[in-house]
Amino acid sequence: MTDMLRPGAMIGILGGGQLGRMLSVAASRLGFQCHIYEPGPNPPAGDVAARVTTASYEDLDALRAFAQSVDVITYEFENVPAASLDALEAIRPIRPNRRALAVSQERIAEKDFLTSLSLTTAPYARVVDKASLEAALAQIGAPAILKTTRLGYDGKGQARIMTPADAPAAWQAMNGAESVLEGFVDFSHEVSVIAARGLDGSVACYDPGENVHQSGILHTTTLPARLSPGQRSDAVLIAARILNALDYVGVLGVELFVTPVGLIVNEIAPRVHNSGHWTQAGCAVDQFEQHIRAIAGWPLGDGGRHADVVMENLIGEDVDRVPTLARERSTQIHLYGKVEVKPGRKMGHVNRVIRGLT
Ligand code: AMP
Repeated sequence: MTDMLRPGAMIGILGGGQLGRMLSVAASRLGFQCHIYEPGPNPPAGDVAARVTTASYEDLDALRAFAQSVDVITYEFENVPAASLDALEAIRPIRPNRRALAVSQERIAEKDFLTSLSLTTAPYARVVDKASLEAALAQIGAPAILKTTRLGYDGKGQARIMTPADAPAAWQAMNGAESVLEGFVDFSHEVSVIAARGLDGSVACYDPGENVHQSGILHTTTLPARLSPGQRSDAVLIAARILNALDYVGVLGVELFVTPVGLIVNEIAPRVHNSGHWTQAGCAVDQFEQHIRAIAGWPLGDGGRHADVVMENLIGEDVDRVPTLARERSTQIHLYGKVEVKPGRKMGHVNRVIRGLT
Protein backbone atom coordinates (compact mmCIF):
# COMPACT_ATOMS: atom_id res chain seq x y z
CA MET A 1 0.00 0.00 0.00
CA THR A 2 1.43 3.35 -0.95
CA ASP A 3 -0.58 5.44 1.50
CA MET A 4 0.93 3.83 4.61
CA LEU A 5 2.12 6.41 7.13
CA ARG A 6 5.77 5.90 7.99
CA PRO A 7 7.30 5.62 11.47
CA GLY A 8 7.85 9.08 12.92
CA ALA A 9 4.67 10.45 11.33
CA MET A 10 2.53 12.66 13.58
CA ILE A 11 -1.08 11.71 14.29
CA GLY A 12 -3.37 14.51 15.45
CA ILE A 13 -6.07 13.54 17.96
CA LEU A 14 -8.98 15.85 18.81
CA GLY A 15 -9.77 15.21 22.47
CA GLY A 16 -7.37 14.33 25.26
CA GLY A 17 -9.36 11.93 27.45
CA GLN A 18 -8.68 8.28 28.16
CA LEU A 19 -9.55 7.22 24.63
CA GLY A 20 -6.99 9.67 23.25
CA ARG A 21 -4.51 8.38 25.81
CA MET A 22 -4.91 4.73 24.78
CA LEU A 23 -4.84 5.68 21.08
CA SER A 24 -1.62 7.55 21.70
CA VAL A 25 -0.01 4.54 23.43
CA ALA A 26 -1.02 2.30 20.52
CA ALA A 27 0.32 4.84 18.02
CA SER A 28 3.66 5.04 19.78
CA ARG A 29 3.95 1.22 19.68
CA LEU A 30 3.69 1.50 15.90
CA GLY A 31 6.41 4.15 15.81
CA PHE A 32 4.16 7.20 15.45
CA GLN A 33 3.94 10.33 17.53
CA CYS A 34 0.74 12.02 18.65
CA HIS A 35 -0.33 15.63 18.94
CA ILE A 36 -3.34 16.05 21.23
CA TYR A 37 -5.77 18.96 20.84
CA GLU A 38 -7.80 19.52 23.99
CA PRO A 39 -9.48 22.57 25.52
CA GLY A 40 -9.13 21.41 29.16
CA PRO A 41 -5.94 21.56 31.23
CA ASN A 42 -3.81 18.45 31.97
CA PRO A 43 -5.54 16.01 29.62
CA PRO A 44 -5.00 12.31 30.41
CA ALA A 45 -3.64 11.81 26.87
CA GLY A 46 -1.07 14.57 27.40
CA ASP A 47 1.05 12.31 29.65
CA VAL A 48 1.78 9.93 26.78
CA ALA A 49 1.78 12.20 23.72
CA ALA A 50 4.63 14.06 22.03
CA ARG A 51 2.71 17.35 21.81
CA VAL A 52 -0.35 18.94 23.36
CA THR A 53 -2.26 22.02 22.21
CA THR A 54 -4.51 23.56 24.84
CA ALA A 55 -7.10 25.64 22.97
CA SER A 56 -10.84 25.73 22.39
CA TYR A 57 -12.56 23.99 19.48
CA GLU A 58 -13.56 27.46 18.21
CA ASP A 59 -9.97 28.76 17.98
CA LEU A 60 -9.44 28.53 14.22
CA ASP A 61 -5.82 29.76 14.35
CA ALA A 62 -4.88 27.11 16.90
CA LEU A 63 -6.75 24.47 14.90
CA ARG A 64 -4.90 25.42 11.69
CA ALA A 65 -1.50 25.33 13.42
CA PHE A 66 -2.41 21.92 14.86
CA ALA A 67 -3.42 20.61 11.43
CA GLN A 68 -0.18 21.87 9.86
CA SER A 69 1.84 19.94 12.44
CA VAL A 70 0.27 16.51 11.78
CA ASP A 71 -0.04 14.01 8.92
CA VAL A 72 -3.60 12.85 9.63
CA ILE A 73 -6.33 13.92 12.05
CA THR A 74 -8.57 11.64 14.08
CA TYR A 75 -10.74 12.19 17.14
CA GLU A 76 -11.92 10.66 20.39
CA PHE A 77 -14.51 13.41 20.83
CA GLU A 78 -17.15 13.77 18.14
CA ASN A 79 -18.84 17.06 19.03
CA VAL A 80 -16.37 19.33 17.24
CA PRO A 81 -18.15 22.29 15.53
CA ALA A 82 -18.56 22.03 11.75
CA ALA A 83 -16.64 25.29 11.06
CA SER A 84 -13.66 23.91 13.00
CA LEU A 85 -13.76 20.70 10.99
CA ASP A 86 -13.83 22.76 7.76
CA ALA A 87 -10.65 24.55 8.83
CA LEU A 88 -8.92 21.28 9.72
CA GLU A 89 -10.04 19.38 6.64
CA ALA A 90 -8.72 22.11 4.32
CA ILE A 91 -5.24 21.20 5.59
CA ARG A 92 -5.17 17.46 6.44
CA PRO A 93 -7.46 14.44 6.03
CA ILE A 94 -9.86 13.71 8.88
CA ARG A 95 -10.43 10.00 9.48
CA PRO A 96 -13.13 8.80 10.09
CA ASN A 97 -14.67 11.24 7.62
CA ARG A 98 -17.04 14.18 8.12
CA ARG A 99 -20.15 12.22 7.19
CA ALA A 100 -19.54 9.77 10.05
CA LEU A 101 -19.29 12.72 12.41
CA ALA A 102 -22.36 14.49 11.05
CA VAL A 103 -24.46 11.34 11.34
CA SER A 104 -23.43 10.56 14.90
CA GLN A 105 -23.52 14.13 16.26
CA GLU A 106 -27.28 14.35 15.91
CA ARG A 107 -29.65 11.59 16.99
CA ILE A 108 -32.30 12.22 14.32
CA ALA A 109 -29.76 12.28 11.46
CA GLU A 110 -28.34 9.06 12.94
CA LYS A 111 -31.70 7.30 13.02
CA ASP A 112 -32.63 8.56 9.53
CA PHE A 113 -29.32 7.19 8.25
CA LEU A 114 -29.77 3.82 9.97
CA THR A 115 -33.33 3.38 8.69
CA SER A 116 -32.16 4.33 5.18
CA LEU A 117 -29.94 1.23 5.41
CA SER A 118 -33.01 -0.87 6.36
CA LEU A 119 -31.66 -1.28 9.90
CA THR A 120 -34.14 -1.27 12.77
CA THR A 121 -34.14 1.49 15.40
CA ALA A 122 -36.63 2.36 18.12
CA PRO A 123 -39.60 4.30 16.68
CA TYR A 124 -38.73 8.00 16.89
CA ALA A 125 -40.10 11.49 16.32
CA ARG A 126 -38.67 15.00 16.50
CA VAL A 127 -39.69 17.22 19.42
CA VAL A 128 -39.17 20.98 19.53
CA ASP A 129 -41.89 22.12 21.94
CA LYS A 130 -44.75 20.85 24.11
CA ALA A 131 -47.14 20.50 21.17
CA SER A 132 -44.73 18.36 19.12
CA LEU A 133 -44.04 16.24 22.21
CA GLU A 134 -47.77 15.60 22.55
CA ALA A 135 -48.02 14.68 18.88
CA ALA A 136 -44.96 12.41 19.16
CA LEU A 137 -46.41 10.67 22.21
CA ALA A 138 -49.72 10.12 20.42
CA GLN A 139 -47.77 8.52 17.55
CA ILE A 140 -45.28 6.43 19.55
CA GLY A 141 -47.09 5.84 22.85
CA ALA A 142 -45.72 5.44 26.37
CA PRO A 143 -43.39 4.30 27.80
CA ALA A 144 -40.89 6.34 25.83
CA ILE A 145 -37.63 8.19 26.32
CA LEU A 146 -37.04 11.83 25.45
CA LYS A 147 -33.41 12.61 24.51
CA THR A 148 -31.70 15.80 23.39
CA THR A 149 -30.65 15.36 19.77
CA ARG A 150 -27.13 16.63 20.47
CA LEU A 151 -24.47 16.34 23.17
CA GLY A 152 -26.03 13.45 25.09
CA TYR A 153 -23.76 10.77 26.53
CA ASP A 154 -23.73 8.32 29.43
CA GLY A 155 -27.51 8.72 29.82
CA LYS A 156 -27.26 12.53 30.21
CA GLY A 157 -29.90 14.70 28.53
CA GLN A 158 -32.54 11.96 28.81
CA ALA A 159 -35.90 11.68 30.55
CA ARG A 160 -38.21 8.70 30.74
CA ILE A 161 -41.92 9.13 30.09
CA MET A 162 -43.75 6.24 31.72
CA THR A 163 -47.22 7.79 31.24
CA PRO A 164 -48.35 10.90 29.31
CA ALA A 165 -48.53 12.72 32.67
CA ASP A 166 -44.69 12.65 32.77
CA ALA A 167 -44.43 14.64 29.51
CA PRO A 168 -44.27 18.23 30.87
CA ALA A 169 -41.47 17.40 33.33
CA ALA A 170 -39.56 15.51 30.62
CA TRP A 171 -39.77 18.46 28.25
CA GLN A 172 -38.64 20.81 31.02
CA ALA A 173 -35.60 18.56 31.62
CA MET A 174 -34.51 19.13 28.00
CA ASN A 175 -34.10 22.87 28.73
CA GLY A 176 -35.70 23.84 25.45
CA ALA A 177 -33.18 21.83 23.38
CA GLU A 178 -34.34 20.07 20.21
CA SER A 179 -35.08 16.47 21.21
CA VAL A 180 -36.15 13.11 19.91
CA LEU A 181 -38.84 10.93 21.45
CA GLU A 182 -37.94 7.25 21.24
CA GLY A 183 -40.29 4.37 21.88
CA PHE A 184 -39.13 2.24 24.80
CA VAL A 185 -37.45 -0.92 23.52
CA ASP A 186 -38.26 -4.00 25.55
CA PHE A 187 -34.83 -5.61 25.32
CA SER A 188 -33.44 -8.64 27.16
CA HIS A 189 -29.88 -7.29 27.15
CA GLU A 190 -27.53 -4.88 25.39
CA VAL A 191 -24.56 -5.76 23.22
CA SER A 192 -22.14 -3.77 21.11
CA VAL A 193 -20.00 -4.51 18.11
CA ILE A 194 -16.67 -2.83 17.64
CA ALA A 195 -15.71 -2.88 13.99
CA ALA A 196 -13.03 -1.40 11.79
CA ARG A 197 -12.65 -0.50 8.14
CA GLY A 198 -9.31 0.14 6.48
CA LEU A 199 -8.36 2.69 3.85
CA ASP A 200 -8.48 -0.18 1.32
CA GLY A 201 -12.12 -0.92 2.25
CA SER A 202 -11.43 -4.14 4.16
CA VAL A 203 -13.60 -4.72 7.23
CA ALA A 204 -12.78 -6.49 10.51
CA CYS A 205 -15.32 -6.91 13.32
CA TYR A 206 -14.65 -7.91 16.90
CA ASP A 207 -16.87 -10.43 18.60
CA PRO A 208 -19.93 -8.61 20.12
CA GLY A 209 -19.68 -7.93 23.87
CA GLU A 210 -22.54 -7.82 26.35
CA ASN A 211 -22.89 -4.53 28.21
CA VAL A 212 -24.34 -3.75 31.62
CA HIS A 213 -24.90 -0.11 32.60
CA GLN A 214 -25.22 1.38 36.07
CA SER A 215 -26.73 4.86 36.48
CA GLY A 216 -26.46 5.33 32.70
CA ILE A 217 -22.71 4.58 32.64
CA LEU A 218 -21.16 1.41 31.23
CA HIS A 219 -20.30 -0.91 34.14
CA THR A 220 -19.15 -4.16 32.53
CA THR A 221 -18.61 -5.70 29.11
CA THR A 222 -18.60 -9.51 29.03
CA LEU A 223 -17.25 -11.77 26.29
CA PRO A 224 -18.77 -13.90 24.99
CA ALA A 225 -22.16 -12.15 24.87
CA ARG A 226 -25.36 -14.18 25.15
CA LEU A 227 -26.27 -14.37 21.46
CA SER A 228 -27.39 -17.11 19.12
CA PRO A 229 -25.10 -17.81 16.15
CA GLY A 230 -27.66 -16.02 13.93
CA GLN A 231 -27.73 -12.94 16.18
CA ARG A 232 -23.94 -12.90 16.31
CA SER A 233 -23.66 -12.82 12.55
CA ASP A 234 -26.50 -10.24 12.30
CA ALA A 235 -24.58 -7.96 14.67
CA VAL A 236 -21.46 -8.17 12.55
CA LEU A 237 -23.41 -7.64 9.31
CA ILE A 238 -25.09 -4.54 10.76
CA ALA A 239 -21.71 -3.04 11.66
CA ALA A 240 -20.26 -3.85 8.23
CA ARG A 241 -23.23 -2.28 6.46
CA ILE A 242 -22.78 0.96 8.44
CA LEU A 243 -19.02 1.07 7.79
CA ASN A 244 -19.42 0.56 4.06
CA ALA A 245 -22.29 3.04 3.71
CA LEU A 246 -20.18 5.75 5.37
CA ASP A 247 -17.02 4.86 3.41
CA TYR A 248 -15.60 4.78 6.90
CA VAL A 249 -11.94 4.56 7.88
CA GLY A 250 -11.18 3.65 11.51
CA VAL A 251 -12.93 1.94 14.41
CA LEU A 252 -16.67 2.33 15.04
CA GLY A 253 -18.84 1.22 17.96
CA VAL A 254 -22.42 0.05 17.38
CA GLU A 255 -24.71 -0.36 20.40
CA LEU A 256 -27.53 -2.85 19.95
CA PHE A 257 -30.58 -3.92 21.93
CA VAL A 258 -31.28 -7.67 21.85
CA THR A 259 -35.03 -8.34 21.52
CA PRO A 260 -37.13 -11.39 20.63
CA VAL A 261 -37.78 -9.82 17.21
CA GLY A 262 -34.13 -9.20 16.41
CA LEU A 263 -31.38 -6.68 17.00
CA ILE A 264 -32.30 -2.99 17.26
CA VAL A 265 -29.63 -0.34 16.78
CA ASN A 266 -29.46 2.10 19.72
CA GLU A 267 -26.61 4.31 18.58
CA ILE A 268 -23.29 4.44 16.80
CA ALA A 269 -20.05 6.05 17.95
CA PRO A 270 -17.52 7.02 15.26
CA ARG A 271 -14.49 6.18 17.40
CA VAL A 272 -12.94 3.65 19.70
CA HIS A 273 -15.50 2.78 22.35
CA ASN A 274 -15.55 2.02 26.06
CA SER A 275 -17.25 -1.31 25.35
CA GLY A 276 -14.24 -2.27 23.19
CA HIS A 277 -11.65 -2.02 25.98
CA TRP A 278 -11.84 -5.82 26.48
CA THR A 279 -9.96 -6.23 23.18
CA GLN A 280 -6.79 -5.17 25.01
CA ALA A 281 -6.81 -8.54 26.80
CA GLY A 282 -8.82 -10.66 24.37
CA CYS A 283 -7.26 -10.06 20.96
CA ALA A 284 -3.87 -9.95 19.30
CA VAL A 285 -4.67 -6.49 17.91
CA ASP A 286 -6.87 -4.34 20.15
CA GLN A 287 -9.30 -1.59 19.07
CA PHE A 288 -6.74 1.17 19.64
CA GLU A 289 -4.06 -0.37 17.44
CA GLN A 290 -6.74 -1.26 14.89
CA HIS A 291 -7.89 2.36 14.72
CA ILE A 292 -4.35 3.67 14.30
CA ARG A 293 -3.64 1.05 11.63
CA ALA A 294 -6.77 2.06 9.73
CA ILE A 295 -6.20 5.83 9.79
CA ALA A 296 -2.50 5.34 9.00
CA GLY A 297 -3.39 3.36 5.87
CA TRP A 298 -1.95 0.13 7.26
CA PRO A 299 -3.59 -3.27 6.74
CA LEU A 300 -6.05 -4.14 9.54
CA GLY A 301 -4.76 -6.55 12.18
CA ASP A 302 -6.27 -9.78 13.50
CA GLY A 303 -9.20 -8.97 15.77
CA GLY A 304 -10.06 -12.62 16.49
CA ARG A 305 -10.86 -13.29 20.16
CA HIS A 306 -8.53 -15.68 22.00
CA ALA A 307 -9.96 -15.50 25.54
CA ASP A 308 -13.10 -14.92 27.55
CA VAL A 309 -12.88 -11.48 29.16
CA VAL A 310 -14.86 -9.28 31.53
CA MET A 311 -14.08 -5.57 31.36
CA GLU A 312 -15.12 -3.55 34.41
CA ASN A 313 -15.00 0.25 34.50
CA LEU A 314 -13.54 1.91 37.57
CA ILE A 315 -15.89 4.83 38.17
CA GLY A 316 -15.20 7.46 40.84
CA GLU A 317 -14.17 5.85 44.11
CA ASP A 318 -13.92 2.39 42.51
CA VAL A 319 -10.33 3.43 41.91
CA ASP A 320 -9.69 2.94 45.65
CA ARG A 321 -9.95 -0.81 44.96
CA VAL A 322 -6.75 -0.77 42.90
CA PRO A 323 -4.50 -2.17 45.68
CA THR A 324 -6.82 -5.21 45.94
CA LEU A 325 -7.25 -5.52 42.17
CA ALA A 326 -3.48 -5.45 41.77
CA ARG A 327 -3.32 -8.74 43.74
CA GLU A 328 -5.64 -10.52 41.30
CA ARG A 329 -3.76 -12.63 38.81
CA SER A 330 -4.96 -12.41 35.18
CA THR A 331 -6.38 -8.93 35.76
CA GLN A 332 -5.07 -6.21 33.51
CA ILE A 333 -5.30 -2.75 35.08
CA HIS A 334 -5.62 0.44 33.08
CA LEU A 335 -5.61 3.78 34.91
CA TYR A 336 -6.10 7.05 33.10
CA GLY A 337 -3.83 9.24 35.23
CA LYS A 338 -6.73 11.39 36.48
CA VAL A 339 -5.81 12.89 39.83
CA GLU A 340 -9.17 14.21 40.93
CA VAL A 341 -11.74 11.55 41.83
CA LYS A 342 -15.33 12.63 41.12
CA PRO A 343 -18.56 10.62 41.27
CA GLY A 344 -19.33 9.27 37.80
CA ARG A 345 -15.83 10.02 36.48
CA LYS A 346 -14.17 7.25 34.51
CA MET A 347 -10.88 6.71 36.36
CA GLY A 348 -9.76 3.46 34.74
CA HIS A 349 -10.86 -0.06 33.89
CA VAL A 350 -9.77 -3.64 34.43
CA ASN A 351 -9.84 -6.54 32.00
CA ARG A 352 -10.21 -9.90 33.70
CA VAL A 353 -9.16 -12.81 31.55
CA ILE A 354 -11.57 -15.52 32.61
CA ARG A 355 -9.94 -18.30 30.61
CA GLY A 356 -8.41 -18.93 27.24
CA LEU A 357 -10.66 -20.32 24.53
CA THR A 358 -10.87 -24.09 24.58
P1 AMP B 1 -28.03 6.20 25.07
O1 AMP B 1 -27.37 7.40 25.67
O2 AMP B 1 -28.96 6.52 23.96
O3 AMP B 1 -27.04 5.13 24.72
O4 AMP B 1 -28.91 5.56 26.25
C1 AMP B 1 -28.34 5.10 27.46
C2 AMP B 1 -29.04 3.84 27.96
O5 AMP B 1 -30.45 4.09 28.17
C3 AMP B 1 -29.00 2.69 26.96
O6 AMP B 1 -27.80 1.98 27.05
C4 AMP B 1 -30.22 1.87 27.39
O7 AMP B 1 -29.91 1.10 28.55
C5 AMP B 1 -31.22 2.95 27.77
N1 AMP B 1 -32.03 3.30 26.60
C6 AMP B 1 -31.74 4.25 25.68
N2 AMP B 1 -32.68 4.31 24.72
C7 AMP B 1 -33.61 3.38 25.01
C8 AMP B 1 -34.83 2.94 24.39
N3 AMP B 1 -35.32 3.52 23.28
N4 AMP B 1 -35.51 1.93 24.98
C9 AMP B 1 -35.04 1.35 26.12
N5 AMP B 1 -33.92 1.72 26.76
C10 AMP B 1 -33.19 2.71 26.23
